Amino acid sequence: MAASETGNRFLETGDLRELLSEKRWLVEEEQFDPGTLNIYETLFTVGNGYLGTRGSLEEGHAAGLPRTFINGLFDHHQSFVVELANTPDWPELHLYVEGIKLGIHECEILDHYRALDMRSGCLFRETRFRDKEGRITRYQSLRYAHWDEKHLCELQVQLTPENYNGVIEVEAPIDANVFNLDLKPAYKDPPTFDPEIRWEKWARSMHLGHVVSEPIEPKGIFLKLETLDRPHHLGYASALEADTDVTEYRRRFQHKRASEVVRLEAKEGEPLRIRKAVAICTSRDLARDQIRPFCEGQLQGSLSHSFLEKFERHRKAWNRLWDACDIIIKGDPEANRAVRFNIYHLLIAANPEDERANIGAKSLSGEGYKGHVFWDTEIFMLPFFIYSRPETARALLKYRYHTMDGAREYARESGYEGVRYPWESADTGHETTPKWTADGSVRIYTGERELHITAAVTYGLLTYVDATGDIDFMLEYGAEMLFGTARFWNSRLEYNESGDRYELTGIEGPDEFHKLVDNNVYTNRLTQWNLNQAADWYQRLQDEFPEKLQALIEKMSLDEQEINSWREKAEKIYIPYDPDRDLIEQFEGYFDLKEVPITEWDENDMPVYPDGYHHDNCEDTKLLKQPDVVMLLYLLPDRFSREVKKANYEYYEKRTMHKSSLSPSIHAIMGVETGNHEKALLYFERSAYVDLNNNQENTEKGIHIASAGGTWQAVVNGFGGMRVKKGRLTFNPWLPPSWEEIRFRIRWQGHNLSVHVEKHRAAFTWAEAADKALMIEVQGDAVELQPGRKVQADIK
Ligand code: BGC
Repeated sequence: MAASETGNRFLETGDLRELLSEKRWLVEEEQFDPGTLNIYETLFTVGNGYLGTRGSLEEGHAAGLPRTFINGLFDHHQSFVVELANTPDWPELHLYVEGIKLGIHECEILDHYRALDMRSGCLFRETRFRDKEGRITRYQSLRYAHWDEKHLCELQVQLTPENYNGVIEVEAPIDANVFNLDLKPAYKDPPTFDPEIRWEKWARSMHLGHVVSEPIEPKGIFLKLETLDRPHHLGYASALEADTDVTEYRRRFQHKRASEVVRLEAKEGEPLRIRKAVAICTSRDLARDQIRPFCEGQLQGSLSHSFLEKFERHRKAWNRLWDACDIIIKGDPEANRAVRFNIYHLLIAANPEDERANIGAKSLSGEGYKGHVFWDTEIFMLPFFIYSRPETARALLKYRYHTMDGAREYARESGYEGVRYPWESADTGHETTPKWTADGSVRIYTGERELHITAAVTYGLLTYVDATGDIDFMLEYGAEMLFGTARFWNSRLEYNESGDRYELTGIEGPDEFHKLVDNNVYTNRLTQWNLNQAADWYQRLQDEFPEKLQALIEKMSLDEQEINSWREKAEKIYIPYDPDRDLIEQFEGYFDLKEVPITEWDENDMPVYPDGYHHDNCEDTKLLKQPDVVMLLYLLPDRFSREVKKANYEYYEKRTMHKSSLSPSIHAIMGVETGNHEKALLYFERSAYVDLNNNQENTEKGIHIASAGGTWQAVVNGFGGMRVKKGRLTFNPWLPPSWEEIRFRIRWQGHNLSVHVEKHRAAFTWAEAADKALMIEVQGDAVELQPGRKVQADIK
């Protein structure tokens, strides 16, 4: 449609609130409270996987942490480790009524309401300001990062002067005076600071240098920036539109900041509408000299359509997303909202179009963990993508392929061979775990010791291949990753002559309370699995794709001797175990540690540290930060009997503090599997509401995105009881008392499988388009699903 036909159709909506979805799709903030400002900024992040923008107030706030992160845009410079760079916060907008700013500090707030609309992927706000002259202005805004046009962000504002006529000045800046928190300490082994000092509140690191600010004709501004260490260029093109006669339009260029300023005549009771459209692009996406033309093109393309038209397209894209990814829980609307909230954040965290970016531990919603990628991706988030958006899962795995050079170097530098994935990964595959906490008080060893990340990557890879049947991926990329990881383990395992066994000493398992242990079973067992899988796949390639294998043999200098060594060492890996009690010993010597019972729980039902204990001194006790053995029982479901699972769940559950948000979802899933149903529901809630209730007390630093993935698994793999055993889908569901039914859809071998679980029966519909029947198992019984036919099974 031509621009002239659409004209100013964004005016057609009288009230932006009318664009909001039904209440059950909203997460709402009912009043302004500075105490929860940073938490809502995190919860209300909007994004599209290319970028994420925290839900800060457009006009700013002294305590605000406005952030826009572009996925994969890392820089080092003043930060003590390479980190995801904060970039200009595109929704920033300042309004002055007769010279008085409309802001939380300057005016009295009569009403304040915000809603994250998960259905449409946007953030709505309504605030009524009264200034010191008694003028009341109703302010509404709606913002979103376009799903289909990933470089485009839009903000629409509607202002209504309730009791005055006057002049309103609008300033729409792009401000590159932005920082990350935490600064590189100026000393090697930093001294300790008083923990009361919020170091990160004042120490700031800068990542953006300014190249140029220029006008765009006839309207708009363009800023070119560059990261200070990494060679990235960034372009921001911004344009401001207003619907009434603009009495004045000018541009202001200051150091690292440019803005458009318009003056409007406001009349009592008559709404004014303002639109800020911003196009963002970097040299990660395009050649440097194409950034500006591309941004301008995006901007013009956007402004030739009304805000509503653009928004409509975005909303349709979100409808499609939800058609594919939604989970329906009947009987517990709050749980359903919470699950959708977690899915919403998973969706905006990853970009299927970018295979060189991944998902940081706080997604694009906050600075926590510096945008670094952990095992959180493969073990916690990847299943959601594998089973709902496999093309995104593929891109996430490609990131591990592209970072393999760094991972190879890492192995070499630490004295080993093959591919050693870093515990914390940024843009190169090198280890980026900081060596000290920001205040310098605690040495961090996880980078050196949490080897299990390497097996996690393999685990994610093979789960993807099993579920999608994407053999091409395996042949082109996966096999090299798999063999590279096996080669690492092969070189890392230590031979213990007296026991004639292989061991891993001086390591740390998933439970980070025990920072230096020998033979952590989780790690040892997954190492064994990793080696065997590699040997099995080697055999399979030899049988089915000998030419592909030959190419890899040459590229990697593989030989039969090495493959035999993988099998032989796997066979002899030491697994500490107490057969009398069916108990797996988390690591050698764990059973001899001090018993310190957990006796207190906080208002969110989270365990409280026993007197005298904290994160860094539980080493001598049996207390765990997060599941370790229980995690293993979940990941290798057909390798342990039900008795072993139950005995270990009940033993370790009592001792787990859940001081990582990764913890509760796993206890929910294994609670269902071992018949500990009450616990399962309790842990599901701890996981699903982790950010909505701020139950880890650090939501301000960003969404616990691994927990979001874990929450999805708690529904599908926990209550839905889904597992893949020997390549076959199996289900053993159980629903909490108040839940009447759950419905979800998963992708399996390129097709949809719809699952509908009720208390006493479950129904499965295999895609009509599938060319053959699917065999699944429901509570141990084989069930054949013909394409397009719904099949029901009783649930005992
Ligand atoms: C957990 C790790 C996790 C990391 C990032 C830590 O607190 O113990 O398992 O990978 O957070 O989410």
